[in-house]
Amino acid sequence: MSLLSRDIKYVGGVGEVRARLLEREVGVRTIGDLIYRFPYRYIDRTRIWALSEIDESTESTYVQLRCRITGLSYTGEGAKRRLIVEISDTTGLGELVWFHGIRWIEKRLEVGRDYIIFGRPSIFRNRISIIHPEIEPVEQAMSRKQESGFQGIYASTEKLSQAIGTRAMYTIIHNAWQLIAADSTAISDPLTEDMRRRNGLIPLREALYNIHFPQSQEKLRAAQYRLKYDELLGVQLTIQARRSQRKAANNGFVFPRVGDAFNTFYKQKLPFNLTGAQQRVIKEIRADMISGKQMNRLLQGDVGSGKTMVAFMSMLLAVDNGYQACIMAPTEILARQHYATMTRFAEGLPNVRVAIITGASRAKERREALAGIASGEVNILVGTHALIEDRVQFANLAYVVIDEQHRFGVEQRAKLWTKNLQPPHILVMTATPIPRTLAMTLYGDLEVSVIDELPPGRQPIRTYHYYDSARLRMFGFLKQEIAKHRQVYIVYPLIKESEKMDYKDLYDGFESISRDFPLPQYRTAVCHGKMRNEDKEAAMQQFKRGEADILIATSVIEVGVDVPNATVMVIESAERFGLSQLHQLRGRVGRGGEQSYCILMSGEKLSKESRARLEAMCATNDGFELSELDLKLRGAGDIHGTQQSGEAFELNIANLASDTQIMQLTRDEAIAILDDDPRLEKAKNIPLVQLRNRYQKREKIDFSNIS
Ligand code: ADP
Ligand code: MG
Repeated sequence: MSLLSRDIKYVGGVGEVRARLLEREVGVRTIGDLIYRFPYRYIDRTRIWALSEIDESTESTYVQLRCRITGLSYTGEGAKRRLIVEISDTTGLGELVWFHGIRWIEKRLEVGRDYIIFGRPSIFRNRISIIHPEIEPVEQAMSRKQESGFQGIYASTEKLSQAIGTRAMYTIIHNAWQLIAADSTAISDPLTEDMRRRNGLIPLREALYNIHFPQSQEKLRAAQYRLKYDELLGVQLTIQARRSQRKAANNGFVFPRVGDAFNTFYKQKLPFNLTGAQQRVIKEIRADMISGKQMNRLLQGDVGSGKTMVAFMSMLLAVDNGYQACIMAPTEILARQHYATMTRFAEGLPNVRVAIITGASRAKERREALAGIASGEVNILVGTHALIEDRVQFANLAYVVIDEQHRFGVEQRAKLWTKNLQPPHILVMTATPIPRTLAMTLYGDLEVSVIDELPPGRQPIRTYHYYDSARLRMFGFLKQEIAKHRQVYIVYPLIKESEKMDYKDLYDGFESISRDFPLPQYRTAVCHGKMRNEDKEAAMQQFKRGEADILIATSVIEVGVDVPNATVMVIESAERFGLSQLHQLRGRVGRGGEQSYCILMSGEKLSKESRARLEAMCATNDGFELSELDLKLRGAGDIHGTQQSGEAFELNIANLASDTQIMQLTRDEAIAILDDDPRLEKAKNIPLVQLRNRYQKREKIDFSNIS
């Protein structure tokens, strides 16, 4: 058995108990697992901080101190008992606090002696205090040979860090490395020398050593570069293999005919001229549909760019060839809206019948729709998740449109596949632009179409940020707009953890608006997630028909609602929304020819990130620009789709936001490798299989409690 696959219990300092704890808490079972968990940061162990250097600005940074213990004391009783240790250096005073393991720790401390202390200080009542620091007598610390001046800090969980502190973890990895150092075959490099040279990569062994024990900043950077490269190459080998399999399969439905439904609609019913971008995308889709390959296409188009029309017209292509098509929307309201639009479009078209199925469908509507779908009489089906329920049996489904992809995971998409033996064409539409890097990983096996042009006559939306104190001014502005017979959205955030409070916000807001905007001059409707579907629908319809001037809502209207006469979007507590959500909400206005506005309301106190988000919103209407910024502000892990995508790409070291260039390099490399050897069967490529598998299906770790 190779060294890396050996159980970690054999590593010095681990043993059975710690081994099982490591496995349970962070999924580390073998020496290889251990070595492939990289530090997420490093501290400079050569640096000793002075107490006087510590203040609010250094809070939550790790520091190393050299201090004398000047006193021990205890407070509290029983479970509340804690040990307080007073410390000082030549520059100041501080205290160390222990809640657990007091008896064990007090035996090891001695007043008057000097210690090296390591931890994260906080400032409490003007005092520097460190809770549960690591501590060791100076002589002992000095005598230990350090492998490197930088000490890696490894992600841990609360339970794990109680049993194995940062220093103990470091020692364990150090011991593991001693075993590797003694075994020249322990690490074999999956990349040939030629490949390394071409890409400027250091050998794997050297990279792994330096990632744990950096010998210099430069070596650390080289190590990171190499390991990121491996990781992203593994990812790309997976994605590109899937893509080429799909392309080789040749089992796509073919729609050779452009028939009566499409032509009648195009020549007689099209309510406006298509934009150049819409025309181009319809052509792209049509080309896929006659290619014999299954289409798997992502359609990105900013809010209001007219994706629905593209969906509808491409669905007509399926109908003209005797097949069924369906469109799946993320919410009931949006499904109803698509149904209304498509029914209107389909009126008078030969052989087109539209039906709807949602969770809220009444028995009769549902029964009729199901029968029509099973017989093939219905050929355009609109719906929500209810569409992928097993009861819905299609006669000959050949085309599936998924609107607003971020609500649907890959797994749900896959479910649609299994409804047929022959996979239907898939069009995934999203208004949330996905940055290039992310698109390359998450959607690497999708073709991408972009609608990069808004219908003519749209004026850019003006966005302003107001503090809550300027509310009356904002109300005044709303009144002006309403006097021009325009309509207004006012949106409140809804965050699950504090639902009660959120609804209170909404109702308080509703009350104050009802006071300031009295009937009969002003008509107000409310719509939120807790309401019954019928009531929600009624409120939306009221607003749509122009019977309400103001719609007060939680973000239920976030996606897709189309009311061209609405010109103002007010977002309350805007600092609580993510950037892409803000942008989505803003897209609800500016759909007609009138100048539209988005007003972001917030409290005075804003975090740096919140402020950056609001400023970005005021500065640009460009969804792509915003999504790139979002990625930078939040990091890729947070972006929609990554968690719910069902893809097991848990990136260990690479960063989707900043490693674009490596991503591109590995993508090209992966394509070249697979072109030459699609199944990685050639001897020289066998090691790459391992590399790929390492990054596939990596055990998911619960990151919620990692400190
Ligand atoms: P989204 O891409 O956000 O789904 P929609 O499909 O809802 O956008 O379209 C937004 C609005 O623009 C709708 O009212 C639609 O009828 C209108 N629209 C779409 N295409 C055009 C066009 N080519 N010219 C004028 N208006 C259009
Ligand atoms: Mg839409």
